[in-house]
Amino acid sequence: MVMSQHSSSRPVFRFAPSPTGFLHVGNARTALLNALLARRAGGLFILRLDDTDLARSRVEYAEAIGADMAWLGIAPDVTYRQSARLALYDVAAEKLKADGRLYPAYETEEELERKRRLQRARGLPPVYDRAALALDDVARARLEAEGRKPHWRFRLAHKVVEWDDGVRGPQHVDTSNLSDPVLVREDGSFLYTLPSVVDDLEMGVTDVVRGEDHVTNTAVQIEIAEALGGQAPRFAHHNLLVLPNGEGLSKRLGHLSLRALRDEGQEALAVAATAVLVGTSQALQPVESLDELAQRVDLSTISRAPARFDPEEVAGLTARTLHGLPFYAVDMRLAEAGIGGGATFWETVRGNLSTFADAAEWWTICATARKGVIAPEDADFLAQAAALLPPEPWDEETYGAWMTAVKAGTGRKGRALFHPLRLALTGREAGPELARLLLVMGRARVLARLQGQAG
Ligand code: GLU
Repeated sequence: MVMSQHSSSRPVFRFAPSPTGFLHVGNARTALLNALLARRAGGLFILRLDDTDLARSRVEYAEAIGADMAWLGIAPDVTYRQSARLALYDVAAEKLKADGRLYPAYETEEELERKRRLQRARGLPPVYDRAALALDDVARARLEAEGRKPHWRFRLAHKVVEWDDGVRGPQHVDTSNLSDPVLVREDGSFLYTLPSVVDDLEMGVTDVVRGEDHVTNTAVQIEIAEALGGQAPRFAHHNLLVLPNGEGLSKRLGHLSLRALRDEGQEALAVAATAVLVGTSQALQPVESLDELAQRVDLSTISRAPARFDPEEVAGLTARTLHGLPFYAVDMRLAEAGIGGGATFWETVRGNLSTFADAAEWWTICATARKGVIAPEDADFLAQAAALLPPEPWDEETYGAWMTAVKAGTGRKGRALFHPLRLALTGREAGPELARLLLVMGRARVLARLQGQAG
């Protein structure tokens, strides 16, 4: 069995997206699992841009991937681009050729399709028949004289490859049931498989955590790693995120891209918690930090069924995340948004936020001059309440003492008491506790608004 014998004490994880679109929540699941497992183990977290497909890869997407990861809070320790490492893949390909593990094949796509049709018609699996292996030098020279260029296939060992998957448990694949995979295209460019194996070996990757759409590649990659004289990493294949209707997410279609979620005002921590926790046996709950989320990561809780995920959940979790965030977790963001009031303000409003941007609205309400909203029938009541305002300094007891006096002085209670006060002070029907708002606003402002003046 190919179990990792990696002796290095420092595990090495990598996230290897191809820069062909914006990252979506499903990609974030892969990125976060790798980043957080690395973080927890004190390991290295690599971003590897799989950009050998030059036609589809774009620099803008590569940059966006870096920015989106930074937004999530998982900036990589180091970034590599495969397009800058082609020489390494050439060396590996030459070694495999010299060892007879990489052989030229000349069939066109139409010829291959015809073979597959015939196999299916005979009830056989559509596995490549290795006809190209039987070609001798003369036959090859004839084909090349016709103008054909070879693509290159890896000759599988036709054996049972086993690995202990971090999510799925012991796995085995008989590679005699697989077609020899094409590693190099006719034009000399590499498909994803060989560069990935070469890089995992060369970068000392100890753990590959990726989507289960790659399970079928794993046996092949283990064989290639062995053929290159290396030790394959450990593998763990997580389930993929799907929408409530079962539809998968697509990077190219921009489904639930991290940028769209960020622009909507979703919290990075909420997106991260959703990406990591849906489709596991763990409850989807807010976290205060990525370190806390890292403690929750447990590959064995990942379900084998697709991870059904409702985009609405992210909004709900954003609100719940904000409600629990301590001041120290947001003070920089508050300062950047020009929001003052310190911990008193934050702790006053956080429970009423749907998105962080709502905090700015409450800050405007609390800290800029505006007239109290006063219904004519409440004017006398509010004037009496104003007259009963306790002198400063104010503290946690002030509001209670004031309300006792106002109730006794005006005979009002319940909604008739609180609603006009809230409207006069905030102009809103609902919001944070008045007791706390009072402390944020201070006496002069409260007094002015109760009197219908700008303050
Ligand atoms: N570039 C591949 C992808 O985005 C990487 C798969 C892997 O992690 O090995 O699916």
